[in-house]
Amino acid sequence: EAATGPLPGDSRVDALIEAAYAHAATHHEGTVADYIPALATADPAQFGLSLVDVHGGTHEAGDAAALFSIQSISKAFVYALLCDAVGHEAALATVGVNNTGLAFNSVVAIELNGGHPRNPMVNAGALATTALIPAASPERRWLTIQHGLSRFAGRALELDDAVYASEMAANQRNAAIAQLLESYGRIRVDPAGVVDVYTRQCSLLVSAHDLAVMGATLADGGVNPVTGERVVSAEVARDTLAVMSASGMYENSGEWLFEIGLPGKSGVAGGIVCVAPGKGGIATFSPPLDAAGNSVRGQIATAYLSRALGLNLFASS
Ligand code: GLN
Repeated sequence: EAATGPLPGDSRVDALIEAAYAHAATHHEGTVADYIPALATADPAQFGLSLVDVHGGTHEAGDAAALFSIQSISKAFVYALLCDAVGHEAALATVGVNNTGLAFNSVVAIELNGGHPRNPMVNAGALATTALIPAASPERRWLTIQHGLSRFAGRALELDDAVYASEMAANQRNAAIAQLLESYGRIRVDPAGVVDVYTRQCSLLVSAHDLAVMGATLADGGVNPVTGERVVSAEVARDTLAVMSASGMYENSGEWLFEIGLPGKSGVAGGIVCVAPGKGGIATFSPPLDAAGNSVRGQIATAYLSRALGLNLFASS
């Protein structure tokens, strides 16, 4: 079968999706996140895999339609909305682009950098990003973010009320980070409102399929290949992918880049989105996580596909 786009023919991709899924499914390491009580009830056996190419072609296996909270994966897409709103220079100056080398919810990382949040893929930078989204009130900011992420997904994303309530009740650390940013003058709106909007954005329900469409939109220079809508500019998509490459997998971002060679972003509910620029988005959902908070099966399945499809950005052929 001839290739019809930037990837091999459909039957070849389908076979590789099945093989990646079967290979990763043999792994049972990792633990489900429990610091947000509602996440501890996730079924560790759930596993979904979805690839959406830049023409909207879809290849899936397992629980690709199962819904889970997007969590930290929202950080990449809200950052894209911020870059679109304020531009390259302002995003660089206010949120930064360098890896912290520390855990996603590190307070030390903020102190070590004079209060600078460092990058948008860790909680400090994500809280700053949310705070900087132009809006007249926290409620308007939330609606802007919900609408923007829905345009990336190509459908109206909804809140998981139970996950939101559970994280709000266990959110002392993010509240502390937001107040620390305020104390350094890095955010200039009410930190409690910022934490509320950030927690809502993390509680949006997505499937692996939704995440693959969102990733394919970044792969496609900011145009959603399913709806045809331009969500962000090509420059914003490029800048977002650069930041995901440097810091999307927290302190394991170097290992991820070494093994997979593509920008990716993980969330503690077990999702990962990975982007092959000009080719498509790959997303996985499997709740058991490694020590850095990245899905174990998701990393294994994505590494398999990156190699089998020749997607590593650093390979010369
Ligand atoms: N909502 C979570 C938090 O702020 C997201 C963390 C994550 O997915 N790594 O702690």
